[in-house]
Amino acid sequence: MFEQQLGELIAGTQGGTCWALAYVNIDRFREINNAMGVRAGDEALAQFSRRLLDLTGNRDLVCRLGGDEFALVIQNHCAREQLEGTVARLVNDISRPIVVSGGEIELRVSIGVSLFPADGRAYEELIRAACSAMNQAQRDGGGVYRFFDRSVNIMEERRLTLQQGIRKGLQRGEFFMVYQPKYSIGRQQVVGAEALVRWNHPALGLISPVEFIPLAEGNGEVIEMSEWIVDTVCRQIVEWKGRGIRIVPVSINISPVHFWRGSLVDTLRSAVQRWQVDPALLPIEVTEGVVMDSSEKTMHVLEELRALGFHISIDDFGTGYSSMKYLSDLPISELKIDRSFVMQIPEDGVETNGASTAIPRAIIQLATEFGLSVVAEGVETQAQKQFLVEHGCDVIQGYLFSKPLSPEDFASLL
Ligand code: C2E
Ligand code: MG
Ligand code: MG
Repeated sequence: MFEQQLGELIAGTQGGTCWALAYVNIDRFREINNAMGVRAGDEALAQFSRRLLDLTGNRDLVCRLGGDEFALVIQNHCAREQLEGTVARLVNDISRPIVVSGGEIELRVSIGVSLFPADGRAYEELIRAACSAMNQAQRDGGGVYRFFDRSVNIMEERRLTLQQGIRKGLQRGEFFMVYQPKYSIGRQQVVGAEALVRWNHPALGLISPVEFIPLAEGNGEVIEMSEWIVDTVCRQIVEWKGRGIRIVPVSINISPVHFWRGSLVDTLRSAVQRWQVDPALLPIEVTEGVVMDSSEKTMHVLEELRALGFHISIDDFGTGYSSMKYLSDLPISELKIDRSFVMQIPEDGVETNGASTAIPRAIIQLATEFGLSVVAEGVETQAQKQFLVEHGCDVIQGYLFSKPLSPEDFASLL
């Protein structure tokens, strides 16, 4: 009926008039149901509906779309400021506590707004636009309204396309690995590599892991991807070995999702068995957040990995939280200084106040005291390299020495 009413409104709207469609969602309604029971939830919905009707005063153009989602039309608002005022008031007036038999419920809503005719001239279009704006309101923390924004929508669509393409992409061989050398200044030789994943999307081209790893983490597919990566890197090592190339350890990045939710130990153990690869050739890079979670499970995984012969490296060190006390007890072997700290090393190598280089110096010292190796990430200039070597960091990884390379190019470099 709402669709029909809206259709009539669309047909009857004279040129020059405008109105807006608001998509209303109650924030965390599932939690209300879970905490107070579905009966209280039903009661809350009924009261909420009445409140919505009272606030708008037009019964024909308010509707419950389903669940905790409602839509309503705000008429005759051509000026954006005026409309914003109305929607802001709506968010405010709806978000009052509701009393149900089980107690009081704090209600908050997210509202998305689409405009007729700017955002669409048909029911479907307008609803979709308002819903997308509502999703944005929720992503911004809820309890707010957002107007439909085409650019946000394009990003949203891209995200969806990527997210839905991961599993198929893995099956179709759209992912591949590149290898960035770790270089020892003292020994003047490549002492390792970091395996980095890439996605060659059939429609969208080359996609960075910065974009797709979080998406794969969001739906758990990162575990499948990670299994594929471990397997691919092992196969690569075997292939290099077969050609008589000098083999160096190739580290693999492990997502927290795989570390905590997946069977990481099994994945790694079976891969090195299957490919007959020495675990010492497959260091694992994880971020501080992963290893500093001082739970028994974490400790257990780390110790199992160490017992199997894998080395653990802490990636982006210094950007998260580390407990110094805990750090000394962890079975880890390497710290990687994050690129953001390396970037702060002054170009002329002259320190003005010491602050810009305090962190890289401190990390190098910490690693030395704890008997850990240290690698500087993102080294791009001679000055940075000079500084690092003078302060005791021998191994660098960065564009100065080499960008990530294809397996072929990495083999030639070795
Ligand atoms: P990360 O593990 O800290 O990897 C280092 C990133 O810095 C890489 O970006 C690398 O290409 C880049 N980099 C290295 N040297 C330089 C430099 O001199 N200048 C600049 N500007 N950048 C440099 P990439 O390959 O885009 O990877 C970004 C992040 O994505 C990685 O950060 C890691 O967190 C994640 N990632 C990449 N590959 C994988 C993977 O196979 N599995 C998982 N779970 N995460 C991955
Ligand atoms: Mg890494
Ligand atoms: Mg890093």
